[in-house]
Amino acid sequence: MTNPELQPWQWPEEHWRKVVNQVRAGRSLRPTHWPDNKRCAVALSFDSDHDSNELRDGGKSIGRMSWGQYGNRVGVPRIQKLLKQHDIRASFYVPAVIAKLYPDEQRSLTADGHEIGIHGWIHEQNSVLPAKDERDLMMRAADVLEEITGVRPVGLRTPSWDFSGATLAIEREMGLLYDSSLMADEDCYELMIEGEASGVVEVPVEWVRDDAVYFMTNRFSALRAYTPPEGVFDIFRREFERAFDEGGLFQLTMHPHVIGYRSRIWILEEIIRMAKATNDVWFCTHAEVADWCKTHPGEAS
Ligand SMILES: [Zn+2]
Repeated sequence: MTNPELQPWQWPEEHWRKVVNQVRAGRSLRPTHWPDNKRCAVALSFDSDHDSNELRDGGKSIGRMSWGQYGNRVGVPRIQKLLKQHDIRASFYVPAVIAKLYPDEQRSLTADGHEIGIHGWIHEQNSVLPAKDERDLMMRAADVLEEITGVRPVGLRTPSWDFSGATLAIEREMGLLYDSSLMADEDCYELMIEGEASGVVEVPVEWVRDDAVYFMTNRFSALRAYTPPEGVFDIFRREFERAFDEGGLFQLTMHPHVIGYRSRIWILEEIIRMAKATNDVWFCTHAEVADWCKTHPGEAS
């Protein structure tokens, strides 16, 4: 073991290589082609955090919990209606506590063909948990989602994309098809665990394709929504257009209590309209794109 007193600039090469190799991007799983020979895949996702953003911090603010409840009362129904109008299926990541608070929401989404994926127990931060607690919570969370929806989840998005040194081993033990919390690429890839292929597909995310970073506000901190909706649309549009040109994957992360507002939902609607207008896009859930990429891996370009 390296002396814990050593500063990072004093670490021996063996040590910093070990740190980096805990979890690494392996082979690209960019596929040879998309279903029906479409040019581009579009995977929309919604993290239904609702009240859990406040509960995981001790549930001190009733006001912020009401903001979370908006996600259930207004955000999800508005998004669900829009997806239905356009006949698109998407992925929703739901903490177990939220699934228990709003079981009908999860059942209704499942009935519409959407995917419900694991998103922790109460939106806890994995990197501060003992590994055995993280494992226990993740397994219980999967069980809760299955009990409520009747479908065993096949994918995990770590709450806050917070990935611990134990997360990937737990995902592998659970036999999950994919993770969607890391950012080493824009197309799917296989996750490596200490230099070995794990068999787990990464459907990569990015802060740049996340509504929360542009729109979140906290009354008691300096955090304010600083990007106008037109600016957020412009970023998402450019991400889509380039993904389309390259024949790659366009993945988006949104939150019902963030994107669901009357003044913002049009961003999602416009992105869907644009993608549909090409007539050359495969709309898919994260589970579907992970499965496709795993079974149709192309040449790493
Ligand atoms: Zn979340």
